[in-house]
Amino acid sequence: MWEIDHSYIDGVFVPVQGNETVECINPATEAVIGTVTLANRDDARQAIAAASRAQVAMRGSSKAERIDMLRQLQAAVLAKTDEIRDTAIEEYGAPFARAQWVSRYASQSFANAAQVLENHALRRTVGDATVVMEPVGVSALIAPWNSTAGTICSKLASAIAAGCASVIKPSELSPLQTDVLAQALHGAGLPEGVFNILLGRGSDVGEEISTNPEVAKISFTGSTATGKLIARAGIETMKRVSLSLSGKSASIILDDADLDIAIPLALNAAFMNNGQACVAGTRLLVPRRQAKLIIDRVKNLVEVMVVGNPQDPSTLIGPLVSQTQYDRVQGFIRRGLAQGAKLVIGGEGRPVGLDRGYFVRPTVFAEVSNDMDIAQQEIFGPVISIIAYDSQEQAVEIANASLYGLQAYVFSRRPERARHVAAGLQAGSVLINRIAPELLAPFGGVKQSGVGRECGVFGLEAFLEAKSIVSDQPGPGATM
Ligand code: NAD
Repeated sequence: MWEIDHSYIDGVFVPVQGNETVECINPATEAVIGTVTLANRDDARQAIAAASRAQVAMRGSSKAERIDMLRQLQAAVLAKTDEIRDTAIEEYGAPFARAQWVSRYASQSFANAAQVLENHALRRTVGDATVVMEPVGVSALIAPWNSTAGTICSKLASAIAAGCASVIKPSELSPLQTDVLAQALHGAGLPEGVFNILLGRGSDVGEEISTNPEVAKISFTGSTATGKLIARAGIETMKRVSLSLSGKSASIILDDADLDIAIPLALNAAFMNNGQACVAGTRLLVPRRQAKLIIDRVKNLVEVMVVGNPQDPSTLIGPLVSQTQYDRVQGFIRRGLAQGAKLVIGGEGRPVGLDRGYFVRPTVFAEVSNDMDIAQQEIFGPVISIIAYDSQEQAVEIANASLYGLQAYVFSRRPERARHVAAGLQAGSVLINRIAPELLAPFGGVKQSGVGRECGVFGLEAFLEAKSIVSDQPGPGATM
């Protein structure tokens, strides 16, 4: 049994002052596997104060010192890769392959940030000015539960590279992942207060962080609804706010696509992380004259997908994170039927043979029109809407007719044609004939999928402020 009742502040694990205790439930078995005591506002203030003290030294740190910190973090997290993977599986039912990918990405984030910092000019000459890129200051890193280690390490890596101390607030739904990650990060032996970690509710710890004047920057990943709350709360003290939010990504299969490649990839894009991924390609846009053929092939592939124990590497789809999320997804399946979509496979209830755990049947709807709820709202479960289109232009139009614009996928045998379609798509990223991202490229959304970019150079710059120094004497120029 897990018993988590501490925060990580000033380089040590300290008991939380909060007194709300919550049970941790394994979503594959519904067994209680632990308890967590949540931090409160006082804990948040203590963590912010620790980061403020550490910020003084961070501000004066050199590039080489920060690169050293990043290397130490990389080694410390790499050493715990398997534990990070296993707790993601245990805590939210991440399928093995996804959990493995995220746990490796976590340590890789620090290596990527070190490489970016090494090659990045923090001092530039612009006309008569010397422009110095300075750390923005104490940064709050707020994360969801669905990829805790990846999200936190990616944000922390950019913050450290920029010279920012941080307060990390993972989701209250991810105490196990947080605890294992905190132990790993602690192993890096960084100076006290450079990063502080606490688990608490958004309405309490989250709100304190979003309003506290000592916090200069918030880097948030989570739902669009919460992102709006944070942006509103943060504006009072003019915090710099980066928001990486919800999505409803489209996968466009063009009429010249190799269906043997496109369909399996599109299904993986839709069902990744049990459909609980911000970038899940849950709207599948297909040429009308190939619709029947594609739907039949989708049905055949989904029929044999292994749903069940997420620890088994052959499982493609594990359980949803919670009973609440299970009920929500069931509600969307009912609405899809009620609004006239045609059920191809799946539907309400649990898959045959699974009578415990928050497992849903992988569900495919066809004859979906883009204004139905299942095509417009983020379901966050393994439910795909197949939408037929009559022309390439109409496919782009349908893909763009969404509140969101996080990621899109295009499948075609002709690279120039796919790039032409990509140019017309309103999305932060477009992946062509692949579903693996480029980790050094900027990541983020347009429209209500977010503000700002993470990863690589853009991720680093999100934690920097430019200061222009103009003198009557020439400046030192681009020296670092
Ligand atoms: P959520 O918005 O409910 O919670 C995210 C985090 O915000 C949690 O740590 C939560 O405690 C905190 N929070 C809640 N209210 C707050 C407040 N008032 N002030 C400050 N913090 C507050 O999201 P979730 O359910 O944990 O995650 C799922 C959502 O996250 C989905 O919409 C998904 O698309 C999105 N997501 C986006 C990305 C991305 O990179 N764009 C990645 C993963 C998940």
